[in-house]
Formats: sequence, C-alpha cells, structure tokens
Amino acid sequence: MKVMKFGGTSVGSAQRMKNVTELICGPQPNLVVLSAMSGTTNTLVEICGYLYSKNPDSALDVIGRLEKKYRQHVEELYSTEEAKKKALDFLTSTFKYMASFAKQLFTSVEEKIILAQGELMSTHMVTFYLQEKGVNVVLLPALDFMKIDEYGEPDQNYIKEKVNALLEKHAGADLYITQGFICRNCQDEVDNLQRGGSDYTASLIGAAIGADEIQIWTDIDGMHNNDPRIVDNTSPVRHLHFEEAAELGYFGAKILHPTCIQPAKFANIPVKLLNTMQPDAPGTTIDNREDPGQIKAVAAKENITAITIKSSRMLLAYGFLRKVFEIFESYQTSIDMICTSEVGVTMSIDDTRHLPGILNDLKSYGTVSVDKDMCIVSVVGDMDWENVGFEARAMDAMRDIPVRMISFGGSSYNISFLIKNDDKVRALKSLSAKLFN
Ligand code: ADP
Ligand code: ASP
Ligand code: MG
Repeated sequence: MKVMKFGGTSVGSAQRMKNVTELICGPQPNLVVLSAMSGTTNTLVEICGYLYSKNPDSALDVIGRLEKKYRQHVEELYSTEEAKKKALDFLTSTFKYMASFAKQLFTSVEEKIILAQGELMSTHMVTFYLQEKGVNVVLLPALDFMKIDEYGEPDQNYIKEKVNALLEKHAGADLYITQGFICRNCQDEVDNLQRGGSDYTASLIGAAIGADEIQIWTDIDGMHNNDPRIVDNTSPVRHLHFEEAAELGYFGAKILHPTCIQPAKFANIPVKLLNTMQPDAPGTTIDNREDPGQIKAVAAKENITAITIKSSRMLLAYGFLRKVFEIFESYQTSIDMICTSEVGVTMSIDDTRHLPGILNDLKSYGTVSVDKDMCIVSVVGDMDWENVGFEARAMDAMRDIPVRMISFGGSSYNISFLIKNDDKVRALKSLSAKLFN
C-alpha cells in the first residue's frame, strides 16, 4: 500500500480536488492523507485569535466569510443534488459548531477543536466527491487512531495497532482517506501535530502500516536546490539521503516538514516528493542511499539570535559548557548552532521567548553579548570530512558577506553560516552561483 499526502495547495480549490482524485485511484488501494484547503488553517488561527481576545463579532464575521467560500466550492465540486446536499449538511453543521464557540469560555482545548475543522472539511468533501463518482472509498477518522503522548510525541505503538485494526475492519475498499495534522492527546482531547504537520501524519502512517512508499504531493516539482521564491534558475534535486532531507527540512526548505523524516527513515520506507501539477515528473526521492561527494542544496532560516558568552574561567576549565547548556535547558530553549573557542562560546536560538531570563542567568558565568536578526544559511550534501574542496567552494561564495559564525563537523551532511537577515538573499544567490551553476 502507498501513503499519498496532498498539501493544502493540492486541494486548494474544487478543480484541484477533482485533479487529486485522478491521481489517487490505482489498481491497489492507496491510503490518502489530506491537508486543509490552502489558507483555511490560517483563517482558523485568525478566528481563534478573535475568540481569545473576546471579540466574538469579528470571529463570527470571519466564520461567515469562510462558510460562504466553502459553499461556493460545493457548487463547483459536485454535479448531483444528492452529493451537494450531503456536503452542505456537513459544512453547515461544522460552521454552526465553530460559531457556538463564540458564546463560551475559550481555552486551548476549544482552539484545537477549531483548528481541526479544516482537515475534517477537506477530507469529507473529497470523500463525498469520490462516492458521487461511485468509488468504494472509506474515510478513516484520524481522531480514532492518531495519538500523541504527554510530551506531545506520537504514540507509535497506539497508532500502529489502531490504524491496522481499522484497515482490517474495512478491508476490500478501493481507497482510504484520512486527515493530516489532527490527532488526540493523552487526555483524549482533540490536538494536532503542529503547523505543517500533515507530512508527519503521512510518515507516521507509512511507518505504522509498513507502506511501500510515502508520497508527499505539493505544487512544485520536488525539493529544489535553493528557495525558488528567491533564487532564479533553481533546479529540482532528484535524490536526497534521509539525513540530507532532515537537514534541509530544519533549515527552512518548507517543502517537507522536518519531523516527517524520522519515522520513514527508521522504517526504511522511501519518501517521494511529487508535483500535483505535473504528476509524471520524477520529483525527489528520499531514502538511505548516499551520493558520494555531491552537494545537493542550500537553505536558509531567518530570525535567529546569536548569544556569545566569554569567560577567562573557561580557559582550561571543565564543566563550563554544561553550566551554560543547563541554563538553556531550564528555559526549554533549544540551541541550533554552536561554536566554541578556548575562551568563548556562541550559540544560536530561534525561540527568543525566554531570552531575558537566559541572558540574566548567563551573566553570572561571563560577559554576554547578543546579535539579533540573524539568519542561518546551510549547505547540504555529502560533506564527509575526508572529501576535500567543498569547504573552500562554500567559503568562496561567502567572500563578500559578513559571517558571524560557521559550523561544520556536527554532521557529515551540512555546513552552516550565520549571517545577517539582510544578507540572506545575497548569500543564497551567491551560493547557488558558486555551487550549482
Ligand atoms: P503544502 O501546502 O503542499 O504542504 P507547503 O506550503 O507546505 O505546501 O510547502 C511547499 C512550498 O514550499 C512550495 O510551494 C515552495 O514555494 C516552497 N519552498 C521553499 N523552499 C523550497 C525548496 N527548497 N524546494 C521546493 N520548494 C520550496
Ligand atoms: N493544515 C495544517 C497547516 O496548515 C497542516 C498542513 O497543511 O500540513 O499547518
Ligand atoms: Mg506543508
């Protein structure tokens, strides 16, 4: 069985939903994971914002406008009155339910319920459409098998047991559809796998059912060697090692959510990134094969903060780094890049919510300084230290750009530079020119 995930862009209109149904019906039953229609989750976040700030009128206004859009989609999607009615009944009750939250106390429990409605709507709409076409399709409710534990991590044993039992119960169907992103937590409340989490759903399900392949369908032709929104003449990368994809996912190549790699890698299931607009294009395949000596891609992550602590006490001392790291741990803030010298250490973080506390605590160990509005630019590929020359090529591309820190050696797949946000575009372009053209 294949797991096929379609992102918001791929189900973003009635016509696109129709196109998707052309791709998912094959000789073997596939399991299809759908995101919410593009823009919907953002709108649901906006609604929750109004409800949190006790502005029910604005929330109802946005809900009303969203409902109108969905009614229009229904008009375009179905040809029989029966299917139209089924879809409208479902949507009407969904929007009524959402509106009912305007009258009550609003907490994160209600927020998660509202955020789940986008995937519930898109999957029902596509299922009704397939039923109208006479396909024997089964909608598997993600809330019946996707679960996270008390740490927010997926409960892989539970998922495996439940999803396989559901598939067995509905054996013989032509096709299975389920919601990406949404799940239940250890209190059995509705929850989610964080923004962009539908990719994660697909890979968790792929691992749970031992799928032949996990396909992530989006609106562009696979992972590109640089951000196509910034750099001209990028080209698709046809093959990535799981480790390379993990590095790229983290460093902001948004096409694949970083959490999605681990379950697939562990279960050794290849992941393919495919293009809904060009279904026959080869896309990008991610698996455990290496491509010796190849540099694959460049990616960037903005709004990074660098923190330096200098201390003469660090000289020849042991235990200094532990004390520094414990401060970050106590504020549940993860460190991304790190560089050390004999008397100083610089770390980068992207979550600055606890920055004042961290800085205050660090000050008892040395002189602290901070650089904000920085950007990590990362070159990804086979950079085993025994290969020669790749560092020089990457450095050469950065020759005119002020570089705050450089990190290499943490993995054999990545070299990272910390620069100013303002220099990001320049750096991405220069790296593309020097490494790929
Ligand atoms: P979906 O709705 O299908 O999940 P996303 O919005 O999550 O789609 O991500 C896909 C988008 O990420 C693409 O449309 C593309 O513009 C953008 N993107 C950013 N960096 C890259 C890259 N290196 N390669 C390909 N796409 C990228
Ligand atoms: N709909 C969710 C989001 O927009 C999940 C996803 O699309 O992957 O974040
Ligand atoms: Mg996505």
